[in-house]
Amino acid sequence: MADLNGLVADWGQMDWALPFSPYKVIFLISWFFLCLYSVRRSDESPLILNQYRALANTAALFFGPAVLFVLFVVDVVQKIQAGKLAWADLPKYTLAAVFRTNPISKARPITSIGPSIELMDAAGRHFADVYAQQSSGRRTNREILDLTERLILEGLQGRATDILIDPKSDAIYTVRYRIDGMLRVHEEIDSKVCNAVINSIKAISGMDIAEKRRPQDGAFMARTPDGEIYFRVASSGVLGGEKLAIRVLDQTRGLMSLEEIGMDDRTQKAIRNIIRQPSGMVLVCGPTGSGKTTTLYAMLSNMNVQERNIVTIEDPIEHVLPHASQIEVNVKAGVTFASSLRSILRQDPDVICVGEIRDAETAAMAVQAAQTGHLVLATLHASSNMAALVRMMDLGVRPLLLASALSVIISQRLVRRLCDACKGPAELTQSQINYCIQNNLDQTKIFQARGCGRCGGTGYYGRIAIMDVTYMDDKLRHTLVSNTLTPADMKQKGDRDFFATLRRDGLAKVLAGITTLEEIKRVTSHLGG
Ligand SMILES: [Zn+2]
Repeated sequence: MADLNGLVADWGQMDWALPFSPYKVIFLISWFFLCLYSVRRSDESPLILNQYRALANTAALFFGPAVLFVLFVVDVVQKIQAGKLAWADLPKYTLAAVFRTNPISKARPITSIGPSIELMDAAGRHFADVYAQQSSGRRTNREILDLTERLILEGLQGRATDILIDPKSDAIYTVRYRIDGMLRVHEEIDSKVCNAVINSIKAISGMDIAEKRRPQDGAFMARTPDGEIYFRVASSGVLGGEKLAIRVLDQTRGLMSLEEIGMDDRTQKAIRNIIRQPSGMVLVCGPTGSGKTTTLYAMLSNMNVQERNIVTIEDPIEHVLPHASQIEVNVKAGVTFASSLRSILRQDPDVICVGEIRDAETAAMAVQAAQTGHLVLATLHASSNMAALVRMMDLGVRPLLLASALSVIISQRLVRRLCDACKGPAELTQSQINYCIQNNLDQTKIFQARGCGRCGGTGYYGRIAIMDVTYMDDKLRHTLVSNTLTPADMKQKGDRDFFATLRRDGLAKVLAGITTLEEIKRVTSHLGG
């Protein structure tokens, strides 16, 4: 039996290769974490194409820092070849790469949507309770509730604005998320399981589970530490089963400023001036999903809400505005844009926001209000600014009234914003290079989408508007009143001019590194050019 001294002596003589050497254990633990860190870095690296990402991550798990070293070398070689890094700057660049805090985690938005959410029906009753009550007699399946919760949660974490669940075949349902305006398949689920998920959502939305053909509407909500998120649900019977469309109304997402929606400095100044006036009319135009409401909210958030009496009529209310009175359209209950507008005009508010002008009565009242000491903000479904004028005249508004009531018309489309974490210099085609040379554009300022963990591999994160702004001036008033152009001519010319302006505004945003040439082409090409 060895005494204490003997033990210490043994310790000192221990072979380094022994499996229980403390040094070796420490080394193994460090190596393990270094490998995990490498996996994370490789997962976020824009240098790896998405189809090889799983492979690269596996390599990083086993070879750890070696993979990081290879990535670094590739990055340096690419940068030097592209003339973006001089040999002389290499030591400095290396140091920066080693001590760099992860740019991805900084760019990631702070979201309070945690690992779970609390789903509730419109009356605030808990999901499990509602479902248990609705499916009385049947056993409540905890797994189904968990799956439903997970699908909603992952949609929120992925910034989805819509969640669509519909049958792909007899055996399979797909769950798709609309993120930045684009639908993506999130998951495919066995139809039996998915039917149970659909039932659970219908139950919490206050719908009849047994009714599978007739279209139904409902709503539910989720509670998060930051506030409540509302969901509008529509169900309908389709070939092969049932379809659910869930619209996410996220109150916790902050309102955007005029700058954030994509307005240039000059336009911002002009718009601020217009909405400071006591009367007049601002029309925001575009098709569904072109960000009209966001633009209206940006204008409203620019106003002094304490001093002005603001009333909004919306379908649905997407954001709660402090100090404003908001009315939600409910056609079934007889609350329409026209009826609401009629009643609020009696209260004589300062600012009236009309979610959408759809009918002659609303159009007439909105124009009248704008002429009698109210500032009216409204959206209109029209393809361009000139088309908006034509549309208002189609709705029975006389040109003279329109000319005197209107202050400004804005037409807009949304393009996706490049993901700041992974965007890279664009590899231009020869025709694009020629275009740049002809128009004296700096090619090096053009970026392209690549894809990383932050943006779900798409290369885009968020959206921004490109817009055409027409101020009501004497020339335009004259055109309107003198009837020199037929409505058809006006619309045609307007759409053509709009297209040119959109491309110009879009190109400015491409050169600012905000979006890509592909995005501008995608949203402007269907306008015909
Ligand atoms: Zn990205």
